[in-house]
Amino acid sequence: MSVTRSVTQAALLNTPGGLQALVDALAVRGYQVLGPTVRDGAIIYDTITQVADLPAGWTDHQEAGRYRLERRGDGALFGFTVGPQSWKRFLHPPIETLWTMRQDGAGVRISEAAASAPKLAFLGVRPCEIHAIAIQDRVLRDGPYPDAAYAMRRQDVFIVAVNCGQAGGTCFCVSMHTGPKAGSGYDLALTELLDGDSHRFLVEVGSEAGAELIAQLPHEPAAEEHRAAAEAVVARAASQMGRSLETAGIKELLQSNPDHPRWDEVAERCLTCGNCTMVCPTCFCTTVEDHSDLTGTSAERVRKWDSCFTMDFSYLHGGSVRSTARSRYRQWMTHKLAHWLDQFGTSGCVGCGRCITWCPVGIDITQEAAAIRASPNAGKGEQHGGS
Ligand code: SF4
Ligand code: SF4
Repeated sequence: MSVTRSVTQAALLNTPGGLQALVDALAVRGYQVLGPTVRDGAIIYDTITQVADLPAGWTDHQEAGRYRLERRGDGALFGFTVGPQSWKRFLHPPIETLWTMRQDGAGVRISEAAASAPKLAFLGVRPCEIHAIAIQDRVLRDGPYPDAAYAMRRQDVFIVAVNCGQAGGTCFCVSMHTGPKAGSGYDLALTELLDGDSHRFLVEVGSEAGAELIAQLPHEPAAEEHRAAAEAVVARAASQMGRSLETAGIKELLQSNPDHPRWDEVAERCLTCGNCTMVCPTCFCTTVEDHSDLTGTSAERVRKWDSCFTMDFSYLHGGSVRSTARSRYRQWMTHKLAHWLDQFGTSGCVGCGRCITWCPVGIDITQEAAAIRASPNAGKGEQHGGS
């Protein structure tokens, strides 16, 4: 996107015709359009070619350790929150080949990773996910050690945001100031307006590319009543937040409580499975593996998502620095909510709730933070030897 500020023009797009025209116009411009669709009992992100691919009439019910799709009783296309996947899987994929090597006569031929990436259009990016993409931009693209592959994939991404009309049981974007309405970071932002037989989208323009695209589509100018209806949609979502997190002073709170007994309590429940890091849209850690075939004539180096919940993640010449569940959960949560601020000037959490929903034992980052806040300085003076 060339412009990240929010501009004030707004239009009305009918559905399915207007929305289909948007998908088609993106495809004509060479974009692979990715958006939400139903698969394997969840809403996941995949290639979208028609409005019929979207999860019409589906919603999700989310609680700690629980996710279920349910029928809504209407035809809403975006009547759900976020699923197990995030847009991270397209910009910072779970597994990526860095180079391959093949025997070539007496020598070897090394091929580097692809130097181009498809143009991607993301349809249905939630406001918290826009913030998550911005966080990954800061870490992987704009920092002192940019990741060339990430920057290449990110370069031409066209973002169609969808403001939230309902919140999930594990959402807390209001606490993190990341939703439920997108403020910037999009090319177009849609708000779904469903009223009886009338099914339309209010479209706000956030970039020149967005303005150019919407001008090509059949649309009507939005009136004040439509803007008010869109505001009511996001206000409803804001009033439904399933969770909240008190962020005032949280960095100091967590950094001054490394020996709080709550870390022992959560360690008794935590399976150190790493699900929370896999579903988190901001976690970015990776490991590198070398593979060779059985004949020894070819090899490859791959980069894979890693997790601070594994023993290997902190293995240093002879042992793991974080050998206990206590130390690994504490590392993850304090990095997200405290050290991330020191490193990147922002929280590492956008309040999407995925780590709560997809934790198999229902550990809830908002509850863990609240428990430490409820008894600050508990455990002060105890020695845990850094474990
Ligand atoms: S907090 Fe939950 S999801 Fe994360 S590692 Fe522990 S058990 Fe797994
Ligand atoms: S820590 Fe949990 S709630 Fe926060 S961004 Fe990651 S998955 Fe979402």
